[in-house]
Amino acid sequence: MQEVASHVDMFHLDVMDGIYVPNLTFGPPVIEWVRPGVDTFFDCHLMVARPLDLLEPLARAGADHVTLHTDVCPDPPAAMGMARQLGLQFGLALSPTVPASAVRAYLADLDMVVVMSVEPGFGGQRFMPETLSKVETIRGWIDREGLSTALQIDGGIATETAPLAALAGADVLVAGTAIFGQADPVTAVGLLRKAINGALLSGETG
Ligand code: ZN
Repeated sequence: MQEVASHVDMFHLDVMDGIYVPNLTFGPPVIEWVRPGVDTFFDCHLMVARPLDLLEPLARAGADHVTLHTDVCPDPPAAMGMARQLGLQFGLALSPTVPASAVRAYLADLDMVVVMSVEPGFGGQRFMPETLSKVETIRGWIDREGLSTALQIDGGIATETAPLAALAGADVLVAGTAIFGQADPVTAVGLLRKAINGALLSGETG
């Protein structure tokens, strides 16, 4: 983790509770334990049934940002208010079956929107290309309104899929297996950046 830290813009931490998703990962105590050794933005993706219960423990553990799934966040403005009071940035995530319209009303106030390009819950899944149209739709809204909301894509991002996501308008790309599953994670980060920059450059000129 430390080796990769200076080569990435942030760490994306998948918090799973074994209830909202079948998998179980880690929570605030583990994040608090790794925090002192890593001087990088901590983006916490909450795949948990009761995300509000975790906001305060995550803030204390050193999280910088929390993303909640729309289907377990019935009152986004209230959740956003709670998070901001704790000094956390706030985002909303859309599972593949949830339409872009679920975040439309909150877009201007969110720090980030996350489009899931796999079903939440497991690493190493195949990228779902049909989710790219959702990225394009939300990018259109952000640009038309001149918003600073970040647009993240999460799931199945690798050198083949990262260019597609970037061209669709995602500006924060989450890669897990494509970095940590490689023999040389630092080189893998460089290859991903090269793939994205190459696509954006050729996309603009051609
Ligand atoms: Zn995630």
